[in-house]
Amino acid sequence: MEKFEIKAYGTPSADADLKPITIERRAATENDVEIDILYCGVCHSDLHTARNDWGGTVYPAVPGHEIVGRVTKVGSAVSKFKVGDLAAVGCMVDSCGECASCKQDLEQYCIPGFIGTYNGKDKHLGGRTFGGYAEKVVVSDRFVLKVPENLDLAATAPLLCAGITTWSPLRHWKVGKGSNVAVTGLGGLGHMAIKLAKALGANVTLFSRSPEKEKDARELGADQVIISTSAEQMASAKGKFDLIIDTVPYIHDVNPYIPTLNINGTLVLVGYLGGLEPALHSVPMIMGRKSVAGSLIGGIAETQEMLDFCGEHNIVSEIELINMEDINEAYERMLKSDVRYRFVIDMQSLKA
Ligand code: NAP
Ligand code: ZN
Repeated sequence: MEKFEIKAYGTPSADADLKPITIERRAATENDVEIDILYCGVCHSDLHTARNDWGGTVYPAVPGHEIVGRVTKVGSAVSKFKVGDLAAVGCMVDSCGECASCKQDLEQYCIPGFIGTYNGKDKHLGGRTFGGYAEKVVVSDRFVLKVPENLDLAATAPLLCAGITTWSPLRHWKVGKGSNVAVTGLGGLGHMAIKLAKALGANVTLFSRSPEKEKDARELGADQVIISTSAEQMASAKGKFDLIIDTVPYIHDVNPYIPTLNINGTLVLVGYLGGLEPALHSVPMIMGRKSVAGSLIGGIAETQEMLDFCGEHNIVSEIELINMEDINEAYERMLKSDVRYRFVIDMQSLKA
């Protein structure tokens, strides 16, 4: 298969810093779109993958799944995009297209498994897929999104993961006018959850460990802020929420949040992967038909719906633009929750 070399940033092992590397991309085949990457957001999942927090990372690893750029080439069978168009790629670059999930536009739950934008099995070149910390990406047109022209492009990048990961549960649990929604953790996902829930008409509360984020949360659209370490403040929210979106990346006690759910309410985990400790107590769930659920990104059609909604409502992420060589420092700051509220890499800095 024809291929070409490009510059990227990646890591050779779980305990090494990211550094410049050369990777290969396939030459665009008939259904492919080649995109010159202009900006790439920095998701906490990038850090989890680079450092093998979840196991399964194959090295070298090139993270990045919040990609926006311009189309530089299209295959002969591509009609949705032309050279010069803005385009975006999120967390997936392929799926089987035939299973019950794919047929319902739920590619993220593809039964044989979707192909991740990074660390996925690359069926074209072998090995693993490389993500958006790179000059270019080549992706099947089914997985390329259209970008609203009116939005700031760098600040649009985080919509491709942080945006869709919070939009999908908001839509699945039918959040709208009159809904009471809470968001746990004010980081990349959390701040998008606040903006999107607010724009859908919900009353929005932030649960945070960080009192110094209260002012920002209110500016982002939160109607209330509850400091999760205060038992008194937690008790004040008893029975309130229809939906809680929990974005905390590390193990934490979920039990104190269950009493704050309304009857039939759901707490949806989108951050932490793994067993809960302490164990989930069933009594507060049974006494109110409450659920604890999980949710993974969103399908391609739903991602386009979210991007169009953001275009109509002028919603983008709050970002700090960084150069590619600042990525290791950015990871350290992300670990300290010191991001307001998403790092985005200006890919010009890699090309220069
Ligand atoms: P982030 O920007 O680092 O934000 C996470 C926030 O959680 C922090 O700002 C902090 O908020 C809170 N937090 C951090 N560590 C905590 C701890 N030990 N205990 C309690 N709270 C803590 O991360 P992100 O990019 O939003 O990603 C969040 C998680 O979602 C990551 O694990 C990521 O891998 C995952 N993710 C999942 C999906 C999916 O499809 N399900 C998609 C993308 C990302 P406060 O300071 O306000 O407490
Ligand atoms: Zn992500």
